[in-house]
Amino acid sequence: MTEKMKTLIEKLEKEHSLSLEEYEYLIDNRDEESRSLLREKADKVRRSFYGNKVFIRGLIEISNICKNDCLYCGIRKGNRNCQRYRLSEDDILECCKEGYGLGFRTFVMQGGEDGFFSDEVMCGIVRKIKEKYPDCAVTLSLGERSEESYRKLFEAGADRYLLRHETADKEHYGKLHPKELSWEKRMECLKSLKTIGFQTGCGFMVGSPYQTTAHLAKDLKFVEEFSPEMCGIGPFIPHNETIFRDEKAGTCELTCYLLSIVRLIKPNILLPSTTALGTIDKEGREKGILSGGNVVMPNLSPLSVRKKYMLYEGKISTDEEAAENLMKLKEKIRAIGFEVVTERGDFIKV
Ligand code: SAH
Repeated sequence: MTEKMKTLIEKLEKEHSLSLEEYEYLIDNRDEESRSLLREKADKVRRSFYGNKVFIRGLIEISNICKNDCLYCGIRKGNRNCQRYRLSEDDILECCKEGYGLGFRTFVMQGGEDGFFSDEVMCGIVRKIKEKYPDCAVTLSLGERSEESYRKLFEAGADRYLLRHETADKEHYGKLHPKELSWEKRMECLKSLKTIGFQTGCGFMVGSPYQTTAHLAKDLKFVEEFSPEMCGIGPFIPHNETIFRDEKAGTCELTCYLLSIVRLIKPNILLPSTTALGTIDKEGREKGILSGGNVVMPNLSPLSVRKKYMLYEGKISTDEEAAENLMKLKEKIRAIGFEVVTERGDFIKV
């Protein structure tokens, strides 16, 4: 590790901010020493807010029907070989019931942009869940909607919203998305979510096609400036039914490095060790937690649809990432010195 690297890591720890050039330096010149120093500092600062707690979120994949054609995504509209499904309100409530019994106190409803889930339908579902489980948080991850729609969902009781920005570089965004989608609209949505009062999550893929170090530096700068309550970071993994089928996947190593940096940018952030990270490396989930992550999102979707929500090749869903195997997950996490807790796990304000 160079002297400059050490100085930058210390500066990041103190000031929670670096210049774009400095972030690039951190990424381009990383080595075993800088990785472990960042990991150590990220771990220390996370413990100061959240101790050794790991929060769990029950992920319910409500629909793989999507009107968008994001170039990297396995459930994109253009994928004719995807068996489409949509959960009913009863299906979703059944998932919550099972999840509640297992100890989940946050339910995340994620899906493609499926027109069936209008404001009326979605608000109805949110209200029912909050009525039955008033001690639980509801997170939504349903893509881009109007500000009015987000407001209605918030008023219906939704607490959090995840909308990854995917990449903070407008040109890069254009290379990953069809022309109907715009980077400006994404940014606008994120701002609306925050203004409305959601605990808001942004996030990006690591190693996505055309991504450069400069893009990643911009992602870090964006996290710094937007100051989200949550941030989803996972490796890009190609899907065979997309034009990126032959592209390389992102690495566990770089994803973990970035998790540590994000933890130092925003010490109190809720940072998931993502399913994609667990997919790319069999110890990815644990490595993500050791690098500064403090959230895992086991899959609560009905078994019959789980294989159909295939965002990328090989997406894991039936082992420790399955809600019904929570005991196994708890043991694995305990083995690395952390504890899975039954709490809503809200963002702690400073
Ligand atoms: N429709 C919702 C939910 C999208 S799926 C939305 O737009 O927010 C959730 C996340 O999966 C996406 O934000 C994206 O970052 C990630 N994802 C999609 N395809 C992927 C791939 N091939 N590899 C890794 N992550 C992927």
